Amino acid sequence: MALATPRVFSGIQPSGELHIGNYLGAIQAWVEIQHRYESFFCVVDYHAITVPYAPPELRTRTHEAAVSLLAAGIDPSVATLFVQSAVPEHTELAWIFNTITPLGELERQTQFKDKAQRQESVAAGLLNYPVLQAADILLYRADSVPVGEDQVQHLELSREIARRWNARFRPDSPYFPEPKALLTPTRRIMGLDGSGKMSKSTGNSVGLLEPPDDIWAKLRPAVTDPKRVRRTDPGTPEVCNIYHLHKAFNSEATVELVAERCRTAGWGCIECKQTLFEGMERTLAPMRARAADIRSRPGHVEEVLGDGAATARRVARETMREVKAVMGLAAEAGLRPHRP
Ligand code: ADP
Repeated sequence: MALATPRVFSGIQPSGELHIGNYLGAIQAWVEIQHRYESFFCVVDYHAITVPYAPPELRTRTHEAAVSLLAAGIDPSVATLFVQSAVPEHTELAWIFNTITPLGELERQTQFKDKAQRQESVAAGLLNYPVLQAADILLYRADSVPVGEDQVQHLELSREIARRWNARFRPDSPYFPEPKALLTPTRRIMGLDGSGKMSKSTGNSVGLLEPPDDIWAKLRPAVTDPKRVRRTDPGTPEVCNIYHLHKAFNSEATVELVAERCRTAGWGCIECKQTLFEGMERTLAPMRARAADIRSRPGHVEEVLGDGAATARRVARETMREVKAVMGLAAEAGLRPHRP
């Protein structure tokens, strides 16, 4: 059964400072989408505890993630912004989905293989992470999920879980929609060290609220076209990460100019990076100003998140009532017979 207004759900981990990869791959789209869809945006702290972490830091990071999202333009008067652990139905539904998800499908997930390799001991929660993600999305019966390209495989699993649950428990009238990815044009931002995707956990990122001096200190030595060794060597913009960042932060005319100056060695990499830095500042400086304003209002973030959790819970409870009823599980107030 389709909902009257299309719904989106998307989440972000509070595992470190939100970065420009998160912004270009996801948050920028959220800001635009919030006016067209009924939107649920979530700081997914239950996901962040699947790898080793420090509890006091997690609390600060969760708060900081909310500040960044508000500063980036999430408007709590049109979108529901909340913290995952404030809505216990997420883990309740995840457990249910765990019982219908084959182990082999989880073991095949690329992100699991990557993260598991970096750790001595791997928690079962890390393996089951995409099941919790399916629960996050399906709890709100969201039809669309604005995410970066790295999440496409997980989303395919969410669709599979929705299909499987519907087939098993509501074969005649599917309850869960099969959520589709809404990909941004930027899709995947690489880290400044050129080692792989920009990520909070690998320290190769530019923070959304980072002071300009710190950003420049990271940008200056950032990896460019590896074949461009001397200032006078002509470069190949297409192989340069900095060039791709220009496309996200500068106008088409500037991007063309950058490409031309690189190919002809008219500019050195430092001049090119300065132009990128100026473009980034046009996007990031207003965010820093909004963040300063948010921080100057005591209790504001807590109030937004509290209201968001209350709204999210109303929807989540309704889903769980239906799910538990058809599965023969006890309702909130005890075991009542199910009348379809
Ligand atoms: P991280 O990988 O930094 O921990 P999350 O897993 O919390 O980030 O992802 C939050 C959102 O940001 C997801 O939609 C994800 O696809 C997007 N995202 C994360 N890193 C990148 C990147 N380097 N490029 C594009 N999008 C990204």
